[in-house]
Amino acid sequence: MIDKITDLLRRVEEFKPKAEAEVEEFRIKILGKKGELNALMEEFKTVSPEMKRELGQKLNNLKNRAIERVNELKTSIKNSSASTSTIGDMSRPGTNDPMGTRHPIAIVKNEILAIFERMGYTVASGPEIEDDWHVFSALNFPPEHPARDMQDTFFIQRNPDILLRTHTSSIQVRTMETKKPPIRVVCPGRVYRNESISYRSHCMFHQVEGLYIDENVSFADLKQSIEYFAKEFFGEQAVIRLRPSYFPFTEPSAEVDVSCVLCGGKGCPVCKHTGWLEIMGCGMVDPNVLESCGIDPKKYTGFAFGMGIERSAMLKYGVKDLRLFFENDVRFLGQFDSAL
Ligand SMILES: [Zn+2]
Repeated sequence: MIDKITDLLRRVEEFKPKAEAEVEEFRIKILGKKGELNALMEEFKTVSPEMKRELGQKLNNLKNRAIERVNELKTSIKNSSASTSTIGDMSRPGTNDPMGTRHPIAIVKNEILAIFERMGYTVASGPEIEDDWHVFSALNFPPEHPARDMQDTFFIQRNPDILLRTHTSSIQVRTMETKKPPIRVVCPGRVYRNESISYRSHCMFHQVEGLYIDENVSFADLKQSIEYFAKEFFGEQAVIRLRPSYFPFTEPSAEVDVSCVLCGGKGCPVCKHTGWLEIMGCGMVDPNVLESCGIDPKKYTGFAFGMGIERSAMLKYGVKDLRLFFENDVRFLGQFDSAL
């Protein structure tokens, strides 16, 4: 009888059904009223009293295991048939996982950098928390210059020497201090100014500035470089003009206007009916700045330029409110990445 119990237990363990109906058939055969287990129970009645204890235990174990096994098999067949039907329906439409896009500021920044890289510029970077020397003093800002005023600059821990950079020109200073001419760098980065937030200004924005220093660099080189950039960035039809201006770190200095990208120069509300849009400031590096940074102004000359990335992106894409770039609404941010 022990052999019969062992054999039945082995068959219970080894049973591998393919469908639920087979499990039910198996259950009736083993556990049913006229099943093998009941037959064994009948046989059990006839065994000698000294064997009853051992055999009774084995029979009980067999019965419990058989019930457990049948339930296990039923659940696993149900689960596998459910998952097969889900995967199996090849006609179901696919699910679209939302794909991220690049931020418009990053797109425009990369485009600006790529244009200057084609002209031989390399990209330089520097810290956002700066000291007075790299942001102002080395750049020929007189001590009483209004740009140093508490109104414009964020100072750190009430120490007037440590501040958030107000322009990326600080990277130019760091480059001139550590490299010998010829220098040709573009410096992208975040800058901070204590300005009220509106559709056209923010307390944090992005700039790209450029610096070119070598022997015999002239204003004509500056104008040619800016014109090349404007045509690459705004299109072949773009025309530039330079207006005299003032910056402490360049002499002479100029504001650069580009012919309005929206009306082609005829006049529209965006260009305030002038036909021109201001895109950057530029000029020949002031000899005082070169001297501050350890470069001989008698031997070398150079030019510098700087532009706001938000403003360039607004002009390029026709965005009317600068704050949209920082609100992180994916419906807005997703409209610019043509690479996807
Ligand atoms: Zn216009």
